[in-house]
Amino acid sequence: MAESEALLNKQALMTEKAGLGKLFSPKSVAVVGASREKGKVGHTVLRNLINHGFSGKIYPVNPQAKSILGKKCFPSLLEIPGEVDLAVFAIPAEAVVATFEQCGGKNIPASIIISAGFKESGRKGASLEAKLAQKAAEDNIRVLGPNCLGVIDTSSSVNATFAAGMPPKGNIGFFSQSGALCTAILDWAIGEGIGFSKFVSLGNKLDIDETDMLRAMGEDEHTEVILGYLEGVKDGVRFLEAAGSVTQRKPVIMLKSGGTEAGARAASSHTGSLAGSEKAFAAAFTQSGIIRAVAIEDLFEYARAFSSRRYPKGNRVAIVTNAGGPAIIASDAVERSSLRMASFEKETIESLRTSLPPSANVYNPVDLIGDAKHDRYAAALEAVLKDPNVDGVFVIFTPQAMSGPEEVARAVARCGSNGKPILPVFMGGPAVEGSAEILSKASMPNYRYPEPAISAMEAMVRYETWRARPAPEYKSFSVDKKQVQRLLEEAWASGQTEIGEYTAREIISAYGFKVPGSVIANNVSDAEFIAEKIGFPVVLKIASPDILHKSDFGGVRVGVRSREEVREVFHEMKERVKRLLPDADLWGISVQEMIQGGKEVIIGMVRDPQFGPVVMFGLGGIYVEIMKDVAFRIAPLSIDNAQEMVREIKSFPLLQGARGEKPVHIEAIVEALLRFSQLVTDFPEIYEMDINPLKVFPQGREPVALDARLALKRNEVSQ
Ligand code: ADP
Ligand code: MG
Repeated sequence: MAESEALLNKQALMTEKAGLGKLFSPKSVAVVGASREKGKVGHTVLRNLINHGFSGKIYPVNPQAKSILGKKCFPSLLEIPGEVDLAVFAIPAEAVVATFEQCGGKNIPASIIISAGFKESGRKGASLEAKLAQKAAEDNIRVLGPNCLGVIDTSSSVNATFAAGMPPKGNIGFFSQSGALCTAILDWAIGEGIGFSKFVSLGNKLDIDETDMLRAMGEDEHTEVILGYLEGVKDGVRFLEAAGSVTQRKPVIMLKSGGTEAGARAASSHTGSLAGSEKAFAAAFTQSGIIRAVAIEDLFEYARAFSSRRYPKGNRVAIVTNAGGPAIIASDAVERSSLRMASFEKETIESLRTSLPPSANVYNPVDLIGDAKHDRYAAALEAVLKDPNVDGVFVIFTPQAMSGPEEVARAVARCGSNGKPILPVFMGGPAVEGSAEILSKASMPNYRYPEPAISAMEAMVRYETWRARPAPEYKSFSVDKKQVQRLLEEAWASGQTEIGEYTAREIISAYGFKVPGSVIANNVSDAEFIAEKIGFPVVLKIASPDILHKSDFGGVRVGVRSREEVREVFHEMKERVKRLLPDADLWGISVQEMIQGGKEVIIGMVRDPQFGPVVMFGLGGIYVEIMKDVAFRIAPLSIDNAQEMVREIKSFPLLQGARGEKPVHIEAIVEALLRFSQLVTDFPEIYEMDINPLKVFPQGREPVALDARLALKRNEVSQ
């Protein structure tokens, strides 16, 4: 079959793919490998289906048994009399491949392959998995797994897993690439009474992947918060697209692991050595509004806060507490975070003054004093929640002799919140266990310490800011694309994949970058003549496609002030090449206009295998890799993306002008980033690229690109 035909077929299959309805709410489920033996996966799956209220038909499949757990058993899928919506496989990998065909014969639209022994176990397993994938695609069967725990859907009461137990109904949808994490989270959820809508273990992602899950949970009316654990994504671009639209409707909180390979790859550019898949993921998450959990605890702690569905409209918070110490600790932590302590309206202070004893502190943090009971909490909460300067509240409670922790928890759970989030922090051990339960029953989170509550509040503020942002705007410049096409083709034709300054200058010029005047001289008298024409001081650089890092080689001399000096440097550079790299292709010595003043920044890109062009911005020059003060976004960049990148770096204040310096024209940098984004989006064969340095100036003077280089690689999706 011709390649294009195969691709068309594949695309047809992809667009035809059915949704995941039958996976989550099947009317009938068959368990292939159902077993009588307690402790076997095939037994537990069947028992879970039976025991958790599933009202559809359940068909055990096992040629050796007549009935299991009171259900009539069938020798094969084909012999089941009625329709089957979902087939769950809990038999050895080889046997799965042999029996999976029956799904096609029986028109079963969805399957879960719990069995391990596939891709994760080596070459043989991988080939079994490939066979399975082919069969599933041919017969148009959706597959979850293999090598997974299964699926739980609390609204259709399906528990098709071998997990111990069923979580309560709730509004959190969870999917995970790790089955072990699934069991841990499930256990935690059951223990803490945290409710879930859907609970999915993705396993090897033969077919159904994180993007399918995001979409399905995004559309699911029972899911209001989406949690995910990922080790990688199957298709970065598809994932970003889905995430961007789902996060508009509901929060998506993601823990991503496996991010320590940065710098492992040899890279020819600064961007290449500073980027890496971790940075690409971080950028992808930021750009699609995904809230990133850094540790497993965050995942839980954010989930609890978000599942109450009250999001702060801003970052101003109030603290209400019965103890001075924790109040100070919490206020300090707030000040260190992106949150701010709210200052109360006069009426709020008056109201607190009337309802609290004279020794109480009526300013933020509100201290109700150690003998506070539930009535003081209730009154104070009511007052601060009404205050228009307060976007969210932390209720901090420490067990004291006088206070009834449960009463206080009830008061907190009862108070009407004005739609503002209240994050309770009941500190302590056994004394506050009962309160935690009361809060959880009222669908409120509880935190043991102020810090995680503060992080959760910050995450909610970030989410609200994301949701409230205007739709992204893109800008396209009129550029000379043909010219770049021509230059790249020439490079290909001559077998050049690393392109140095001289050609790179022409490429970026075609996209509107200004470059310093520069001419390559082949002999000393030309060099002197050109220098004179350009005007002293000038810069001399070795021009050779074999010397890409010119300074490292001693191939750059700035501030050359006279004909004599030109002569001297010219000879010296030629000598050096002759001595150290006699085989280098030396085009000559370029004599260049010296650009004085301004600040050096770097703009770069490296193509990530998952997400495509990752653009980098930072303070430039030769110390980039030491300072590592850089920001990343995935191209094409929106205007906001470019703005954020410039503001994100730590040295942004330097660009704004430190110690009486004039500020750099930020909008000019933003434009440069957007032009660069257009270039790397237009040419997928550009694999890596640096403009370093780009000299930027105060308003009124255009940036100038002093140096650029790029690396090419034939890309499958070349335009
Ligand atoms: P390299 O190949 O080593 O990156 P560059 O062309 O970037 O070589 O030059 C190294 C440094 O010399 C730059 O970071 C910049 O500070 C300075 N420089 C290079 N060209 C010019 C120029 N035309 N005007 C002023 N300074 C320059
Ligand atoms: Mg450079």
